[in-house]
Amino acid sequence: MSFTQEVKAELVAVPLEKECCARAELTALTRGASLLAVAGGKGFSLRYRTENPAVLRRILLLLRRTGAVQEKTRMLVEKRFGTRRLYLLALSHQDSRRVLTDQGMLVTTDEGEEVFRTPSRQVTRRACCRRAYIRGAFLASGFIAAPRRRYHAEWVLPDEAAARHLQRVMSHLGLAGKISRRRGQGIVYLKDGDEISELLKLMEAARAVLSFENDRAEKSLKADAIRAFNCDQGNLGRQLTAATRQTATIERISLARGLTALSDELEALARLRLANPEASLEELGQMLRPPLGKSGVQHRMRRLMKLAEEARDHTPGQ
Ligand SMILES: [Zn+2]
Repeated sequence: MSFTQEVKAELVAVPLEKECCARAELTALTRGASLLAVAGGKGFSLRYRTENPAVLRRILLLLRRTGAVQEKTRMLVEKRFGTRRLYLLALSHQDSRRVLTDQGMLVTTDEGEEVFRTPSRQVTRRACCRRAYIRGAFLASGFIAAPRRRYHAEWVLPDEAAARHLQRVMSHLGLAGKISRRRGQGIVYLKDGDEISELLKLMEAARAVLSFENDRAEKSLKADAIRAFNCDQGNLGRQLTAATRQTATIERISLARGLTALSDELEALARLRLANPEASLEELGQMLRPPLGKSGVQHRMRRLMKLAEEARDHTPGQ
């Protein structure tokens, strides 16, 4: 099951508590997953279409909960592209009018004319209903990429006006959806991990929030580990260049006046460095007899380097 399918499976099971929220969720589904068909002589028919049978069951439940459907509904299954199936729920003309009027999408003017509109603001006036609306919109046309791969959520709406409407509802919930167009359709999308997590919370997909946060934590742990590794590599690089510099300096002393001219403790360190060009100062300290701590080794190494500088300053021609 894809992450999107997991989220949807959880969303269709969110309990329907208030009628206002059921109406808001259904309105989003009407906006995002239905079309109007003209049924010859019998007026128009509102048809909900989805590839997900569980979403269709949810639509039926919402229609009953809002009480706008009184006549028989027709369920159809359309086969598309071989194995892909499209589930279709067709309402009678009267029911279609009732549903659309209830959602503020069908308005009768004073002249008795019927006009189709974007959903009434009334439907998403309350915060509870806004949450239900984005849940319905997600069931209608939402997609969330697996958080392990990338942070991306999007809704594909029939036109840009529908996308702008969803963007407005989302912005009232603190989600800053962005809009793009694709083949005449309006896309609303989110690309921020925090916002997608918040979206899942708002839609009441509690399990999905957990698995999303889990994946996110794992991802950031992995990133931390990579950062730490790169940092180690960096330190190793620095250590090597310092060691290379020391080796070169000691070789210069050796050429200029011989290592035996050094004091015993400096000579011992110089020989160890030449023999162990990749060892850290700490490791060199452990090899000394008696062993010496890192700061002690550092101190001796500094003296060695200073001697080399003096030797260079006093060597003519260098
Ligand atoms: Zn509500």
